[in-house]
Amino acid sequence: AHLARIEAVDEKVNAFLHVDREGALAQAREVDAKRERGEKLGPLAGVPLALKDLFTTEGVPTTAGSKILQGWVPPYDATVTKRLKDADVVIIGKTNMDEFAMGSSTENSAYGPTGNPWDLTRIPGGSGGGSAASLAAYEAPLAIGTDTGGSIRQPAAVTGTVGVKPTYGGVSRYGMVAFSSSLDQGGPCARTVLDAALLHSVIAGHDEKDSTSIAQPVPDVVEAARNGEVKGLRVGVVKEFRGEGYQAGVMQRFDESVALLRELGAEVVELSCPSFTKALAAYYLIAPSECSSNLARFDAMRYGMRTGDDGTHSAEEVTALTREAGFGDEVKRRVMLGTYALSSGYYDAYYGSAQKVRTLITRDFEKAFEQVDVVVSPTTPTTAFPIGERADDPVAMYLADLCTIPSNLAGNSAMSIPCGLAPEDGLPVGLQIIAPAMADDRLYRVGAAVE
Ligand code: GLN
Repeated sequence: AHLARIEAVDEKVNAFLHVDREGALAQAREVDAKRERGEKLGPLAGVPLALKDLFTTEGVPTTAGSKILQGWVPPYDATVTKRLKDADVVIIGKTNMDEFAMGSSTENSAYGPTGNPWDLTRIPGGSGGGSAASLAAYEAPLAIGTDTGGSIRQPAAVTGTVGVKPTYGGVSRYGMVAFSSSLDQGGPCARTVLDAALLHSVIAGHDEKDSTSIAQPVPDVVEAARNGEVKGLRVGVVKEFRGEGYQAGVMQRFDESVALLRELGAEVVELSCPSFTKALAAYYLIAPSECSSNLARFDAMRYGMRTGDDGTHSAEEVTALTREAGFGDEVKRRVMLGTYALSSGYYDAYYGSAQKVRTLITRDFEKAFEQVDVVVSPTTPTTAFPIGERADDPVAMYLADLCTIPSNLAGNSAMSIPCGLAPEDGLPVGLQIIAPAMADDRLYRVGAAVE
């Protein structure tokens, strides 16, 4: 049914870069055969899932939304891919995304933009717009995204779906194409909080192949999602997540959500986190710096495309020609910014200062979590904007992540759930819930209570 749905609508939505029809049917038949043989089935046996094209899949193309990886078929599975298969999930395809997960609208994909199923002329968010759109268009009931600065939560918000960025280190990064290694985190996307929890519990947990993976038991997110409850919970509202640039209808739905939390017995506490105003600036130094280093591996020798390999160019020229032809504008912008910020003489002024701001943001959260159990905010300052509107204005594009970035810098856990439609445009609004590191279960408890 899901493959038929994809066939019917994906020409318009463009959520998928690759639909693995044969592979999915074979996986589904294998689940049936196991069931017939009376074998024990995995916890999500037979459930179809759309996988962001940032995760390697053995024998199935993985492009990271980039031309430079066109035609690359990985010889191994990411840990997330492997855990999905072990849970008997049926992976139906790979979803569209901003190139190397750099963007907030999926317009930076080398394979064309994805449309927002609520209004196909608008962006589905980014970088994981394909995963979110596949859920909103009912092409898949579950999806996987990655969140470096908001790429799970922001697409969830603007498509009316649920997205969770687990605690940094909660889900293995092994086999996930690296963008900014100290920020990147894979996580679940779904249409309900409980579905997200079921998927979370399958992909999370320690992995010795990822040196930053946390060697502790995963919080019981499924139990939390089954028992939504906020009575007596202390909920923080941060005054810096409001003001200029926030759409009136977004703030209206957010304020209603806070009123609902109060009604359900939560205690609402006003907080100030002054360093949050510097988060965007710090992020756009740290992420490009790490990306300039990570993307050095695309040298035309190891993977994918190669340009200028006609015997007249040196190896260095082949690398340069391939990167020139294979990378899109945003990727080039970030590689240049990052290389500059890391260069000797500038390192302290840029990368070093950004890391200090990162520490201040972490401390603001620590202070906040001395007073409250969770923090809530709008997920995004505005609803989905029209395709093309911010394409030529990188700074306007970066503002889409104003509320999501602090959690990546601090490494804590955060979720976006739908909280109604903005009255002025009838488009979905997201409520963000933030919890301390390794307290991901709190997100689900709150999310399930107000969903
Ligand atoms: N939009 C942010 C960026 O462009 C975040 C991307 C992400 O989370 N992968 O970097």
